[in-house]
Amino acid sequence: MTPDPATADGEALFVPLVAGGALPDPRLLPAGPVTRFAPAPTGQLHLGHLVNVLYVWGIARATGGRVILRIEDHDRQRSRPEHEWSILEDLERLGVTPDEPPLAAFNGDTPYRQSDAGDAYEAAVARLRADGLVYACDCSRSTFDRYEAERGRPFHGIGCPGECRSRGLAEDGDVGLRVAVGAGSERWVDLLVGPMADEPAATGDLLVRDRVGNWTYALCVVVDDMRHGVDLVIRGRDLLDATPAQLRLASLLGRERPPRFLHHPLIRRVSGQKLSKAEGDTAIRSLLDDGRTPAELFGLAARLAGARDTDAAIDPADLASVFAA
Ligand code: GLU
Repeated sequence: MTPDPATADGEALFVPLVAGGALPDPRLLPAGPVTRFAPAPTGQLHLGHLVNVLYVWGIARATGGRVILRIEDHDRQRSRPEHEWSILEDLERLGVTPDEPPLAAFNGDTPYRQSDAGDAYEAAVARLRADGLVYACDCSRSTFDRYEAERGRPFHGIGCPGECRSRGLAEDGDVGLRVAVGAGSERWVDLLVGPMADEPAATGDLLVRDRVGNWTYALCVVVDDMRHGVDLVIRGRDLLDATPAQLRLASLLGRERPPRFLHHPLIRRVSGQKLSKAEGDTAIRSLLDDGRTPAELFGLAARLAGARDTDAAIDPADLASVFAA
């Protein structure tokens, strides 16, 4: 995906970057945004999450915004309640508090946990179905791989490699559900990366329910951001490519004003590998247990992300200072 120099909707023509492209221009940050921290309880919080916590709480506090905590356990096979508990505990130990909901809400069913919000996803898919956009698809990962092996290029474009939309498969078999995202580009101005344009169909129609019956990340995140009134999505650059399809889906679901996006740098190992949740050495819990203070860890996260030049400690109550004018 390449930044698009021509921008849409009269928004900023370019986004000035400072301190190595890790800090947004404070003048471009919206006032009073609703943002969210949305971890998947498939492992423990690690340093990569800490960078996200720094950006989410730091920007919310610098702009008079609000932070929603959402537990993204749409993947029922990989999510574990013990990981959810450890995420809540780690946030408390780090000294950051969501504005919504209170942590005690997670003691029971809550609309802020995806596995409790199935009705909302069902209703969203029903709406898309009524518009003729939903179809059953029996393509698997290997169908996409076979397509690539046979043609020498990955599947790109409308539909899916098996052309399932025209096959009229029943929805209740061993099938996933896809939403036809349609042609054309989506344009947006990323508050850190700059003006962007790309096609929602870059990797085919969007899978909204997988073959084992899980609502997918792509569906849940869009529906949740709508129902929770999130208007500023702050997340890592690994999700930049997911943005055009999410913008298109939001618009198909009737969202009038799309959220703004800020995709921040990711921390990688020197070897270039992404941090994995399974790696204990970067788990926040182990670092705190080893006696590192939250302020030291936020200082480390800010330096690793390129937002600060040094590891100087940053008090959890003062994360706004990293992003303030
Ligand atoms: N749940 C995703 C994660 O843990 C974040 C999704 C998002 O911010 O859009 O990486």
